[in-house]
Amino acid sequence: MKVKEIQCKSALRPSKIQNHVINPYFGCQHGCKYCYAKIYTFGHEKEEWGTFVDVRINLIDKLKKQLKKIKQGSIWFSSICDPYQPIESRYKLTQKCLKVLLNWGDSVCIQTKSDLVLRDLDLLKKLKDVEIGFTITILDDDLAKVWEPGASLPSKRLRALEELKQKGIKTYIFFGPILPYFSDSEDKILEAFKKFNQVGVNEVLVDKIRHLQDKVGRELREFVLEKYGKGIWSHFEHAQGLEYQEKLRLKIEHVLRYFDIKYKLLF
Ligand code: SF4
Repeated sequence: MKVKEIQCKSALRPSKIQNHVINPYFGCQHGCKYCYAKIYTFGHEKEEWGTFVDVRINLIDKLKKQLKKIKQGSIWFSSICDPYQPIESRYKLTQKCLKVLLNWGDSVCIQTKSDLVLRDLDLLKKLKDVEIGFTITILDDDLAKVWEPGASLPSKRLRALEELKQKGIKTYIFFGPILPYFSDSEDKILEAFKKFNQVGVNEVLVDKIRHLQDKVGRELREFVLEKYGKGIWSHFEHAQGLEYQEKLRLKIEHVLRYFDIKYKLLF
């Protein structure tokens, strides 16, 4: 893993998802095969996603200065990295940001694939309005080791979510991107929602797979062809059509009739 300490120009950036986004790192040790963040390169054009991390070493100073000027707005972690990827154990940038945000009057939202977030439970409980989201793409731990090699296993993420929920933290699951062939059958969707229901999540956001036409899609294609072959890749090609999208939506809505669970379809 190539780790580089760098200076950032600002800590908070405008975001379409919340008012502001913080990325303590660029690059992600989780190395998910479908990661959308890899469309950004920032000088890492030749390096494979998942093999480098830039650590924004002056982030906390920048954050303190910006907060004095900004004063309000929701903040989320993160858009081009996982804020609790393994390197966070060493640099603790996410934790230090949370300490700075203890007096923040607006909401803070964190989305991760790591149970390292539990380390900061005491801090999280002190924030005025916080929500923790776990991304779940695949339920099966063995399959997840292939698709999300550096992330906490899905079973661990769900246990972490349950613990946070029991400690009074608001939680959500981002169920996506739903992978064609691997997680898009009605049985798989039902299995997933049974688990989500069991852990008592507050809300589930569901999304289809995206970025099949760009760099992300090209690298995904190479990976799927090499690992699983043409037959499986054809499911991904088929997933680009509107007909697939509509069928997926119907499958999800059909499954959801069995659950009293708050959800939002993002497609
Ligand atoms: S955890 Fe998120 S940012 Fe990190 S590789 Fe996976 S999808 Fe990308």
